[in-house]
Amino acid sequence: MSATPSIHPTEQGQTFQNFIAGAWRAAHNGETFSSTNPANTREIVGYFQKSTLADLEDAIAAAKKAQSGWATTPAPERGEVLLRMALLLEQHKEELATLMTREMGKVLKETRGDIQTAIDVAKYIAGEGRRAEGETIPSGLPNKFNMTIRHPVGIVGIITPWNFPMAIPAWKTFPALLAGNAVVLKPASDTPLLALKMAELLHEAGLPAGVLNVITGPGGLLGDALVSHKSINMISLTGSTEVGRHVAEICGRDLRRCALELGGKNAVIVLEDADLDLAVDSVAWGAFGTTGQRCTATSRVIVHKVVQQAFADRLVAAAQKLAIGNGLDPNIEMGPLVNKGRVKAVHEYTQVGQQEGAKLLTGGAALTEDEYGEGAFYKPTVFTDVRPGMRIAREEVFGPFVSILPVASYEEAIQVANATEFGLSTAIFTNDVRNAFRAMRDIESGLIYVNAPTTGAEIHMPFGGMKASGNGHRELGTHAVEEFTENKSIFVSYPPHK
Ligand code: NAD
Repeated sequence: MSATPSIHPTEQGQTFQNFIAGAWRAAHNGETFSSTNPANTREIVGYFQKSTLADLEDAIAAAKKAQSGWATTPAPERGEVLLRMALLLEQHKEELATLMTREMGKVLKETRGDIQTAIDVAKYIAGEGRRAEGETIPSGLPNKFNMTIRHPVGIVGIITPWNFPMAIPAWKTFPALLAGNAVVLKPASDTPLLALKMAELLHEAGLPAGVLNVITGPGGLLGDALVSHKSINMISLTGSTEVGRHVAEICGRDLRRCALELGGKNAVIVLEDADLDLAVDSVAWGAFGTTGQRCTATSRVIVHKVVQQAFADRLVAAAQKLAIGNGLDPNIEMGPLVNKGRVKAVHEYTQVGQQEGAKLLTGGAALTEDEYGEGAFYKPTVFTDVRPGMRIAREEVFGPFVSILPVASYEEAIQVANATEFGLSTAIFTNDVRNAFRAMRDIESGLIYVNAPTTGAEIHMPFGGMKASGNGHRELGTHAVEEFTENKSIFVSYPPHK
């Protein structure tokens, strides 16, 4: 028996309500939608409110009412709420990780990591409550004192994807709260449960009613309304580049601040002097971890021709060895995709790759037999002889799917790596320090790894992408709180007494 207490005991198939003004509330229309376990879609994880615009208005009104009181609460006190949150998350880690595996399929080891990210962010951001620094800057004039102070943005609308159901809501919400904002959070419909659990725990940690409100429901309807609402001062969205562009257009019209973290087509460069075993392990983890459903997933491997065959053979062997199944089983290494629609979408890319003339080395099919029958499983897939112009080399697949592109030199490798609209995460494997440093200069992406996978963000390092992977903002690290504040420049004159 685990000694960990349950938050509110979560039963399979339970109905969950929105969290508005510190209370659980049903949607005005009384409608719900279900979320199912992608390892066995017959299992209903829960029913969630199919919220309407009236529910969104309630959530925004609650945030407006609560914001000024929260903003005038001393920042160290706001930080203490987050510290208590970190302790609660630690206490409930196992329970939350299990719920997350049920909700979106990734294996327990990874869902524990997802919760751990939220814990680490809560601890890190809690400390910012005692810093929340402005600057003092010398004035160019006599008897004058200049300084800057940080001011909350106001009401922040946060929209999150399904692949990190707790980590991403946490790494946006915690700094937004620390900065004195009130938040309306709309999680993805595939994974609403963990965001509601986050709200429940924050409330228990002492967050006043209305400072965080969570509503669930259709992304298009609620998302559009949230993004264009006159009372919303800032939108922070993580999602696809397509939705990001749409959101940026709406925000641009109203000059609303908008921070976007979007898709990727992340490359690993393997030069002829690379440690091949290390490169293969890193690509297998980067491409097939989280079933390839990470914004930083390895999706292209740009390999020097001299080592192409050896690399491909070892990667195929690694892919074929992976234990695939229900992520609750501790022996499983790769879980299902998030839903059956994603199986279809990934399989379409297999067909595209074959039509484009790339060579399928392994995978390329859904798993449907026996224990896979009710799930959303897809075989780890490797294509080789992929050329930079092909769709499978340019478009985000978001599944366990990797393309090998052969090149003949460092220069060609960089050119190919940069030849997509995205710029999130790129890795290079080489033992030549000169090429490692040249790559840090030449690669067009927000995250660069040397001799490590394209995934593996650390919460105290800035996180974000270049080009179509974002709009220039950075999350996590020291930028996290700043992102959710306005800067005020203050000029104080103290002329001598007459
Ligand atoms: P998505 O774009 O389909 O949805 C993201 C969120 O936007 C969801 O909550 C959705 O309901 C909402 N949404 C949908 N239509 C909207 C609209 N018209 N207005 C406002 N909101 C709307 O993305 P997804 O499928 O949930 O997640 C996968 C994508 O997210 C991938 O492209 C992945 O690369 C990206 N992602 C990026 C990062 C990053 O930090 N760069 C991290 C994780 C995921």
